[in-house]
Amino acid sequence: MSCTLPKIDWSRIRSDFPILDQRVGDWPLIYFDNAATSQKPRAVIDALVRYYERDNANVHRGLHELSNRATDAYEGARKKAAAFLGAASDEEIIFTRGTTEGINLVAQIWGAHFLKPGDVILLTEMEHHSNLVPWQFAAQRSGATLRHIPITDDGMLDLDQLGKLLTPEVKIFSFVHVSNSLGTINPAAELCRCARALGITTFVDGAQSAGHMPVDVREIGCDFYALSGHKMCAPTGIGALYGRRELLETLPPWHGGGEMINRVTLTDSTFKPPPARFEAGTPDIAGAIVLGTAIDYLEAVGRQNIFEHDRTLTDYAMLRLAEVPGLRIYGPKKDRGALAAFTLDGAHPHDLTTFANTRGLALRGGHHCTQPVMKKLKVNSTSRASFYFYNTHEEIDRMIEILLEANKFFGG
Ligand code: PMP
Repeated sequence: MSCTLPKIDWSRIRSDFPILDQRVGDWPLIYFDNAATSQKPRAVIDALVRYYERDNANVHRGLHELSNRATDAYEGARKKAAAFLGAASDEEIIFTRGTTEGINLVAQIWGAHFLKPGDVILLTEMEHHSNLVPWQFAAQRSGATLRHIPITDDGMLDLDQLGKLLTPEVKIFSFVHVSNSLGTINPAAELCRCARALGITTFVDGAQSAGHMPVDVREIGCDFYALSGHKMCAPTGIGALYGRRELLETLPPWHGGGEMINRVTLTDSTFKPPPARFEAGTPDIAGAIVLGTAIDYLEAVGRQNIFEHDRTLTDYAMLRLAEVPGLRIYGPKKDRGALAAFTLDGAHPHDLTTFANTRGLALRGGHHCTQPVMKKLKVNSTSRASFYFYNTHEEIDRMIEILLEANKFFGG
């Protein structure tokens, strides 16, 4: 019996993504903006078209063939999302518009139900604005206060501070699994274990982890976990929120409307159990169904394979970026998520990113919705190259050539 793993044909996998095969001006497109949104494989694009060509109807309560098909596919996608995240049941999966909506849902309804003056919401300094602003609202509404775990100079959470910050006044600890501006991979299971020991509710922002590595919410031991479909090969406008069942059952509805009710009179209503309680109105049916297709696709490639491929690419990028004079990289030196953020002496990150675009290279320049991280790094913005499993070593080599050219152009 052979013990070697099957070799993966990454170039065949890359050819599943039609958008990558194009030129920008005179140059082949290099898409290194995957942390903002990923590209979509043919299987997902086809599933979206197929749904609208053959099955489109509103879900639930339909007593006709198309509605039954749409409902089966929609609820089937919920099962796929539950299995993808290791949830105990598909009733723990709420379809949302994305990570931002998942965080807002919990910050609003959990916050309104459980937070009171004197309570503390624990976050970190490396959060995306989506995991800062909803909690600022929740604090303002409830009288709770905010606390943040600081970042060390090498872009890690300063866990020496954890004992001081994770105290019994903390009612919820919400943190990013993989930082979108530093690339830090936080020890989610360990952080949740420490919080759980004090009875503290936990929320993991999985926007940058769900599509990049194996994720099991029960192994992590979190109460909530949010993901965005568009960062993991599905369309924009669809996401999922995992919530531990016992906790979801204690929560009141969020939005009111169709689908989330049992009985309605002119003056009051009763509500369905989760997850329907949290899905008012017609959902993004097609989006949810093809999120299921994207999940099938990622599972077929293999999430551990994706993680290892991302890791190899990122390690290579870190090695080669060090060759560019005047280039400064931010975040951990190793064991990081699939991205590198940097600045180049003499070039504003926006100008550098615009220069890269003139060579067909799609980077992202800006604060990456993490202004507190930029403040900590003492920069206004950075350029970010973020990778996914369809990117190649040759594309990284080409990025280095472009950055060396930029170094000359900007007078380095
Ligand atoms: N958290 C992190 C870490 C992110 O990278 C992002 C997207 N950049 C979000 C939250 C928000 O995701 P979305 O805009 O899809 O809701």
